[in-house]
Amino acid sequence: MSQPGRGSDLSDRRTFPTFDALADYGMFPSASDYWKTGPYGNPVPNQHWCFLGEIEENATFIRLAVTVRDRNGRGKIFVACHDDDRGMHLEKLAKKGNTVAVLYPKAHCFADGQVGFRVEDSSQLTILPFSLKELEDASNLFHHPTTNCSAQGCEKAGDLRCTGCRLARYCSAEHQKMHWGQHKSLCKATKAIEWFARKDWTKWDGKPFVFYSPSKKHDPVSFGDVLDMKGIPYGAARSI
Ligand SMILES: [Zn+2]
Ligand SMILES: [Zn+2]
Repeated sequence: MSQPGRGSDLSDRRTFPTFDALADYGMFPSASDYWKTGPYGNPVPNQHWCFLGEIEENATFIRLAVTVRDRNGRGKIFVACHDDDRGMHLEKLAKKGNTVAVLYPKAHCFADGQVGFRVEDSSQLTILPFSLKELEDASNLFHHPTTNCSAQGCEKAGDLRCTGCRLARYCSAEHQKMHWGQHKSLCKATKAIEWFARKDWTKWDGKPFVFYSPSKKHDPVSFGDVLDMKGIPYGAARSI
């Protein structure tokens, strides 16, 4: 397994800011943490960053539009896609409890007074079929894996590893089977987390990250595949 990229842990508040952190700087992009002044005096990103918010309500009609709540509990953040394709490829994922991810967002005030993000490029928008808490737990498991058995109350050494995420460890096949009900959604969420975790978010090399490109469908991990992923058979722990 390659090393996780710098700043890629979802607990990193600089890479994964709350709405208020972005709103503070929204008016003065060149003065924010995320922008520096480019060679022609134009603002250039300083690093990569992404906003994550859990869907409260789906307001999709002719374009993808949802209200989300961020990790600070700030709700009613309106996210709407104004790209030519209107983000409609994400329509079936726009449900309460799923999580919206927006790359390089700037806080926006809509004409009706709502605040949020107006997404102009749908390649910088995706919806993950997991709650924010599931994604945070999965990131934590990815970045801080333990070597002990994951089953509740068991502190034995985990000599077996879950073949789904290759992160959760177990002392025995029995304990993995016992824990599967609890671990299943987290196990799938670690697959989505890999997209974030494999990148170095702290360095800007002139190339923005994208979630989606029309020619390649999803890049590089298909979050659609994560959604369609059938249950990984429990009891499938392997020796490390
Ligand atoms: Zn155990
Ligand atoms: Zn697993």
